[in-house]
Formats: sequence, structure tokens, C-alpha cells
Amino acid sequence: MGYKALARKWRPKNFDEVMGQTETVSLLRNALTSERVHHAYLFTGTRGVGKTTMARIFAKALNCEKGVTPNPCGKCFSCQGIDNNNMVDLIEVDAASRTKVEETRELLDNVQYAPTQGRFKIYLIDEIHMFSKHSFNALLKTLEEPPEHVKFLLATTDHEKIPATVLSRCLKLNLKKISNKFLINYIEQVLEGEGIASSREAIKIIAESADGSARDALSLLDRIIVLSDGSIETADVSKLFGIIDKTIIIKIFELIAENNQAEVFKLIRDLAELAPNYELMLDQMLSLLKKIAVFQVTKDASQLSQDEDKIIMLSKKINPELCQLFFEICLLSKRNLIYSVEHNVAFEIMLVRLLNFKSDANNESNSQTQAGSSYSNSSIGDTPSKGMGSSNDEKKINKKDSTSAQAIQCLTWLEIVERLDIGGLPGELVNNAEMTYLKNENISLKIPLKHQHLNKKPYIDSIEKRINKVFGGTFKVAVGLEESTPDVDSPAYQKAATKEENTSKEKERLLNKPQVRDLQNLFDAKLKDIHLREET
Ligand SMILES: [Zn+2]
Repeated sequence: MGYKALARKWRPKNFDEVMGQTETVSLLRNALTSERVHHAYLFTGTRGVGKTTMARIFAKALNCEKGVTPNPCGKCFSCQGIDNNNMVDLIEVDAASRTKVEETRELLDNVQYAPTQGRFKIYLIDEIHMFSKHSFNALLKTLEEPPEHVKFLLATTDHEKIPATVLSRCLKLNLKKISNKFLINYIEQVLEGEGIASSREAIKIIAESADGSARDALSLLDRIIVLSDGSIETADVSKLFGIIDKTIIIKIFELIAENNQAEVFKLIRDLAELAPNYELMLDQMLSLLKKIAVFQVTKDASQLSQDEDKIIMLSKKINPELCQLFFEICLLSKRNLIYSVEHNVAFEIMLVRLLNFKSDANNESNSQTQAGSSYSNSSIGDTPSKGMGSSNDEKKINKKDSTSAQAIQCLTWLEIVERLDIGGLPGELVNNAEMTYLKNENISLKIPLKHQHLNKKPYIDSIEKRINKVFGGTFKVAVGLEESTPDVDSPAYQKAATKEENTSKEKERLLNKPQVRDLQNLFDAKLKDIHLREET
């Protein structure tokens, strides 16, 4: 026998083996014990949480030769048949591959016939939300008057796409994401059963990457086992997932805290050669910042498991406000990462932002100290940077102003406009404008001459109002006209450019599809045009 995927080999075979779904299991057990079994169940939940596994165990419980029982024997003809996928009275359907109404009708036409071997004829329909409207109607007719010998077990990752008429005839069971604790136990059990040694840390990484899905956890394990020789080490797993060692994440913040720009970028370029997973790296940075922020409030070092002294040191070098700001910037970068083609570039730009704020904070704390301000306390440990260009007076902005100005300053104009979410002609104005200046709550915009009809005081007033509402401040907006410059930095232009880029990427992808290539070769066909649907 060849290698059997772990997810199949270790699939729970009875209710006792199901993990992390206590409520659903006890509900099904009760139904079986009291023999009050509904005729249709809908299992909902994200991928890999055990929807079809649960349905199959339930099917065994209904058809076990020992009688309807919460503990199917697992040995009889029926139980074995279900375990080996050859029980004729369990009809498994993947709705995603069978969406035509004729197929559904054909399937349901057989509902009236009695089961061949078992007590019940059981229809297990996975990804039921993929059914067409007509297929749902066909199903609904059967659900309205189901024969005594038929049970429907439906499973879906997206119950909102199921018509209310169908939903109302099913008993809905919501399966939860599997907690990390359960996943870790599960992976440990599987590895023990497979006779493979592993470090606890490696298992934790796998569990975290699986994100609540038992199936994902096991397919990740499959991949790692192939690559490892008998034992799974943290380093192997980190390498496979592109996870950067924690000490390096700490080092990045140490260098930022010292405002050591050259070393930060040297470190990042070295890292880039390891092709790290930047999303995970941002997660690690966020997690570290969270630890620093919590320590700054609680001063409780006992909660810091590892790297205690490093975190305490960083909590002194990065003041609480800056820590919050860093967190915001990292979070925003993580969200925007999906729009970026080159993750390393996006990551470097984020570092530039962090460094900018660090040096700003240095300058400010320096000037505040000189001005005898009480805020200097919050920046203990900051090293004053050398060569301050501007006068102290200019830097003496009050604290409230600097906070709202700071929040907005870590955003591009496009990001600001997206947050403003403003419509009508003021919306046109902001979308066609470029930001030329942003400091101390003064914003200067410029728009091309062709849009000069938008340069009206009421529009500007309503933009000011909106900015002040969203970012909380007293911003002043000034708009100027520009004759010659192309408006390449305006949100309208950038959105159009992104759309064009997506379209051309999609075109390239289509042209590379074998089916399309065949068409081209056979009929000398040309791809004329493609349209992307707007996501809503
Ligand atoms: Zn049995």
C-alpha cells in the first residue's frame, strides 16, 4: 500500500475522537439516544473543521447494524462500508461539481426507493451553497415531504448563500474553528502514532499556521514529514514557512529604537535572501509590539515568557505613544500587503515610516525637554538625535495636535481618501487631487486645471469637516490649481492604474490557460477584450 495522506488516515471514526466540537457532538448523541432524529441537518463552519467527518460518523450511527446508536460499532458491514467509501446507502455529493438542475433531479428521483442495505438512505451533500437556484428548488420539494427512510446531511462553508426556505427545514449545527490547544494535542497524537519525533515549538508553529483547520494541520504535516528525516525540528518548520527567528524581529526594533537606519536596511536586505514570509514577519512584529505595550502598562515581567530583558529594554526605548503608532503602521501594512506585488518593497517602505516616526519622536522629545515640557517624561531613554535643522518654536506643537497629525501622517493620500469615504463633488475633488503638503494639521492639495470647477469653498469646507470628524483634529485644507503636471498621484489615477494592471495581469493569465491556447491554435482566435467585475 502506498502512502496514505494523514488527513485520511487520522480522520476521527467516532464521536469520541472528534475534538473541539463538544456542543454539536452532544446534540447529535442526544438525538440518537432518544431516537428523535431530524430529517435534515446542516453542518456549517470554515474549511477543515470536520463537517463531513461529523456527518459520516452520524451516518454510521444511523445505519450501524447494532441499531441506531451514539456509539457505532465500527466493525459491521455498514460501518466498514462507510469508512471505506463503499456503502451504497450513503450517497455523497459534492455540490460544487454537480450544479446542474438535471443532475440534482436525477439524484433526488431515487429518494423514494427504500435503502438497499441500511436502515436509512443518507444524502451527504457537501458545499451545498454551490447549488443553483433550480437545484435548491428541486431539493426543497423533497425536504418539504421527505420519505421516512431518508436523511439529509448538508455541509457548507457559506450558509448565507443558502435560501431561507431550505435553511428553515434544516437543523443547523455550527462547527467551531478548532482552538490552538486542541490542534497542538491532535498533532502530537498523530506524530506519536506515526513514530515521528518533534519539538514542541515546531508543533506550535504548525498549529498556528493551520489557523483552526485540522485538515490543514495534517496536510502541512504531510509536507513537513516528506522533507524531514524522521524528526521534525523547529528550524525545518520555520524554513518551510519562511518564519524568521524571533531574535531577528527584536533586533529590527532595537535598531529602529537606536535610529540606526543603515543597519536596519542592511539586516532587511540580508533577510530578503532567505525569502521570508513577510505577512508572518508582520505578525511577529505585531505580537512583539503588543508585549511591549502590555508591559508598559502592567510592568509585570512575569507575563513575558521569553526574551524578557529585551522586551523590558525596548519598552524603555520606544515610548507608549510611539509603540501604539508602530502597531498601527504594522497593522496597516499587513492589510495592504495583499495589494502589493513585491512584498519586500512594501516591507521596506513600512520600515521607512517607522524610522521617520522614531526620528520625529526623538526631535520632539528633545525640543520638549529644552522647553521644559512635562511630556518629556514619556520619552525617557530616547537618544536625542543630532543636527536638528528647524527651530524649537516650530516643534512646540501641543500634544493633541501631534497625536491626530501623527495618525494621519502615516497614511498616503490614497489611504486618507479611502478612510474619508466621501461622495458627491467633494468626493470628486479629493479623488482628483494630490497632496502636496501635510504638517501641523494643515493640508495642501492641488488639482489639475481641467478640474477647476471642483475648487469651491463649500466642497473644501465639507472635506475639512469630514477629515476632522474621521481623524479628530482641526485640520485646514487649502486647494491649488496646477496647469501642467499630470495628476499621477491622485487617488482617481492610482485606482485606474491598479485596475488596468489587474486587467492586464488577468489577460496574461487567461492567455496562458491551456484551453485558451488551444482555442487560439485551433481557430486562430484572438483575445479581444476582457472586463473585470468590480468587487462589491
Ligand atoms: Zn456498526
